[in-house]
Amino acid sequence: MDKILRIDMGAPGGPKAIIGPLGPYTGMGGRGMTSMVVYEEVPADCHPLGPENKFVIAPGMVTGSAASTSGRISVGCKSPLTGGIKEANAGGQAGQVMARLGYAAIILEGAPAAGAMYKIVINAQGVDISDATPYKGLRNYDLAEKIKAEYGDKVAMISIGPAGEMRMAAASVAVTDREFRPARHAGRGGVGAVMGAKGVKVIVIDDAGMKMRKPKDPERFKAANKRFTQGLRQHPVTGEGLPTYGTNVLTNVVNEAGAYPAFNFSQGQYDKASLISGETFAELQTRRGGNPTHGCHRGCAIQCSGIYVDKDGNFLTKQPEYETVWSHGGNCGITDPDVICRLDFLDDDIGLDTIDMGAAIGVAMEAGIIPVGDAEGAIRLVDQEVGQGTPLGRILGGGAASTAKAFGLERAPVVKGQAMPAYDPRAVKGVGVTYATSTMGADHTAGYAVATNLLKVGGDVDPLSAEGQIELSRNLQIATAALDATGFCLFIAFAILDQQETFDAMVEIINGMFDTNLTGDDVVALGKKILSMEREFNKKAGFTAADDRLPRYFRREALTPHNVVFDVTDEQLDSLYNW
Ligand code: SF4
Repeated sequence: MDKILRIDMGAPGGPKAIIGPLGPYTGMGGRGMTSMVVYEEVPADCHPLGPENKFVIAPGMVTGSAASTSGRISVGCKSPLTGGIKEANAGGQAGQVMARLGYAAIILEGAPAAGAMYKIVINAQGVDISDATPYKGLRNYDLAEKIKAEYGDKVAMISIGPAGEMRMAAASVAVTDREFRPARHAGRGGVGAVMGAKGVKVIVIDDAGMKMRKPKDPERFKAANKRFTQGLRQHPVTGEGLPTYGTNVLTNVVNEAGAYPAFNFSQGQYDKASLISGETFAELQTRRGGNPTHGCHRGCAIQCSGIYVDKDGNFLTKQPEYETVWSHGGNCGITDPDVICRLDFLDDDIGLDTIDMGAAIGVAMEAGIIPVGDAEGAIRLVDQEVGQGTPLGRILGGGAASTAKAFGLERAPVVKGQAMPAYDPRAVKGVGVTYATSTMGADHTAGYAVATNLLKVGGDVDPLSAEGQIELSRNLQIATAALDATGFCLFIAFAILDQQETFDAMVEIINGMFDTNLTGDDVVALGKKILSMEREFNKKAGFTAADDRLPRYFRREALTPHNVVFDVTDEQLDSLYNW
C-alpha cells in the first residue's frame, strides 16, 4: 500500500480526486492511519458534519496479504455522537480489496453542494465519481442488489443506508461480506452520518487484475503465519467457542456471572437468557439449515460469523453478535430469536449501530413509548419511525443519549454520548474502566477487560473488585489500539493474550511482511502513540476528566444479584493515562 486517495467533495465543478504518496503516514494502517489523519488534519473544534471534518477509511497494515484473520478495515472521523475522535472497525471484504489496489487510505474532505449524492468507483484503472441520485433513500440490501447487477459480486461495497443520509448520530457504515451482503458494519459513533455529510452513498472497490500483497520476506512470513493459525485453532475461545456459537456464546457466560445488563441496566441477570443464548441460536440454525460457522471475510481462521435463516430456510440476517442479541433481546425483554434477527437485519439495512439502537429502544421502553418486551413495537420503531425519519425516529436514531434526553430520563447508559454495550460495568469493573476512559466513549472493544474479568483469559482479575482494573484496562487499551492498526481481527486477542508463542507469531508476521525486527515493545509503543493522539484530539475538542466518568447512577444504584455499584474512584480513573 503506497498511496492515499483524497477526494475533495466540495471542489468547484464537483468532487475532485487526487492520488498521492503516503508522506508522513508511511507505515500506518487501520486505526493508526485514521486517528493520525484526524489528529493531524481535522480541527478538533469543528462540527462533525461540517466541511472541516474528514472521513477516513484505512485497511490494516497487513490487510490484503495472506496473513490469517487480517481483513479488518477502520473508519475514522470526528464523531457526531461523542464529539471526539472516532475509529469504528469492520470486517467484510473491503479492507482486502482496497489494500490490494494499493490504497492505504481513502480520505473524503470538504462538503458537496446541498443535496448532492455520489457514487465512487475505484479500480485498477483509477477513480470514477458519478451522480448517485437514483440511489437516494435506498436501504443497504436494495442498494447491494443494484450494485451487484452493475458490477457483479466480486467487488466490495462500502455504503450508507437512509440513517446515514439523514445524518443520524447512530448511523453506521456498511461493508459487504464474502457473499456481497451489506452485513458487516463500522457501527459506532455515527460514522455513517459523516459519510452522509460528505455526500457519498456508496464506494465500489474492484480489485480485478490485482494480486494478494506480497511479504518482503516470504519464508519468514509464511512460517509465522502457520504458527499463528495453529495458535488460533488450538485456543478454546478462537478454536472452538467462537466458531461454534459466534460471539453470542457470551450470553450464558455473562448472565451466569451476574453482569448481564437486562432491562436498560436495571438488573444483572435475565431469567430468560437461555432462550436467546448462542447455544440456542446455533441449534436453531443447524436445524433450519443456516450456518453458524462462517468467515466475514476470506482468510479468517476463526469464523465467528454465521448465516441466520428463517423457519423456511430463507436468509433472515447474518448471525447477530452477542451485543446485538443483548441490546435488542435481554435489554428489551425480547426473547424470540427471529424478532431479534429481524431487528438486526433492519439495523443493517437502514444503516444503524445495533448497540446504540437497541440501547435507545431500551430507554424508550423505560420512558413508556412502547411496553417492555413489545417485539412488534420494537420492529415498528426501527422500521417505520427511524427508517422513515419521523420526528420520533430522528430522536431514536440519535442513539440512547438523545432518546433519554428527549424523554427526560436520567438513566441513559452512555459515556461521552455513546451507549454502553452488553456488560454491566458494576459487575465487570475492568470494562467499566474502559467505558469511562476510552477515547471512543463506551466501547467494550477498546479494552476488553471482560476477557480477564470473566473469561480468565490473559490472567484473572476479580470482576467485582476495583483492585487491578486500571492497570488491566490500560494495558488492554494500549494493546487494542495497536491491534486495530494491524488489520488483525480483535478476536485473535484471546489467543495472543494466553499464548506467548501466538503473540510472537503475530509480531513475526508483521516482520515478515515489512522485513523489520519489531518486538512486543514496539507494539506497545504503537498503541501508546495512537492513544496519545486520540486523547490529545479529544482534549482539544473540549474533553476534560469529567468526561471520563460513568453516569452517576452506576455509583448509586446497586446491581443484582451481587448488589454492587461501580466503585473505581475518580482518582483511579484519572490515572489511566499515566504511563
Ligand atoms: S473472527 Fe469473526 S469478526 Fe473476526 S474476522 Fe473472523 S469472522 Fe470476522
